[in-house]
Amino acid sequence: MRSIVLLLTALLLSQRLYCWGFFAHEKINAYAIYLLPPEMLIFYKPAAQYLKTHATDPDKRRYVLKNEGPRHFIDLDQYGNYPFTELPRSWEAAVEKYGEDSLLQHGILPWRVQELLNRLTGAFKNRNQGAILRLSADLGHYIGDAHVPLHTSSNHNGQKTNQHGIHGFWESRLPELLADKEWDFYLEKARYMSQPAEMIWKIILESAAAVDSVLGQEAALSNSFSSDQKYAFEWRNQALIRQYSTQFSQRYNALLGGMVERRMRQSVQAVADYWYTAWINAGQPDLRKIRAASAADSMLYTLDTLSFYWRNQPVKGKSCD
Ligand SMILES: [Zn+2]
Repeated sequence: MRSIVLLLTALLLSQRLYCWGFFAHEKINAYAIYLLPPEMLIFYKPAAQYLKTHATDPDKRRYVLKNEGPRHFIDLDQYGNYPFTELPRSWEAAVEKYGEDSLLQHGILPWRVQELLNRLTGAFKNRNQGAILRLSADLGHYIGDAHVPLHTSSNHNGQKTNQHGIHGFWESRLPELLADKEWDFYLEKARYMSQPAEMIWKIILESAAAVDSVLGQEAALSNSFSSDQKYAFEWRNQALIRQYSTQFSQRYNALLGGMVERRMRQSVQAVADYWYTAWINAGQPDLRKIRAASAADSMLYTLDTLSFYWRNQPVKGKSCD
């Protein structure tokens, strides 16, 4: 069994397309584990590699599942002005007002988070190890997305303001450049949320409130940089690629006043809070028993996931924004 997994992993790694946003998603899931109480840590810590590796599954699914795309964003600017009170916060009321097709067109991220929280709670209740891990990894991904300002705007990659590439710049380039060297992730222990639906809307609205700064500061800074100062060619995964220069990136980060670090920290905290809340709401099942009973299930699930991606390769050259 082990050699089959290793073989499949090797095959998969040789084919996989690494998007830059993967770095932050993996870190967020991995760091969230350490905020959990000991009763959860005993289950989550041995699964750290899984939760990290699968933090990006939802993004990979976008290339093979038609319904996946709208789960990663919500274009709040389609619903009037901040704080977008036109848009009902409950799914049922929003469907009644706009219809499901329209909601899907403009993104359903906050509702996706709530759906996965419910499903994760169910997985804990059923003591289903494979489902707990898979749903925890997925939930971590969507919560991470909810903290990214440009995931709440229809101008998601600066395409309306001639700032193409800003999406990956904010959520990939800056964390890759700075997270390990300069940012810290010392956070509070996971907290129980009595109103998780309100919490995701709070997160989404904070992101929406930051969109103007994200775009405005980049535009202002670009005016004081020539094109060859703004971009640089750097080696990455044995390829020479053009990206935002280190100098431009650091100046932008300073202009944002630590926003990217703050949102990443808040993502880690929120992921732990949501995992913890699901476990509490499921009646705090004893996770030691789950771990011992279903190691084989987890192996089979890993095999299944690997073969799924092996059969459905992401489209090469597609960007992750
Ligand atoms: Zn995503």
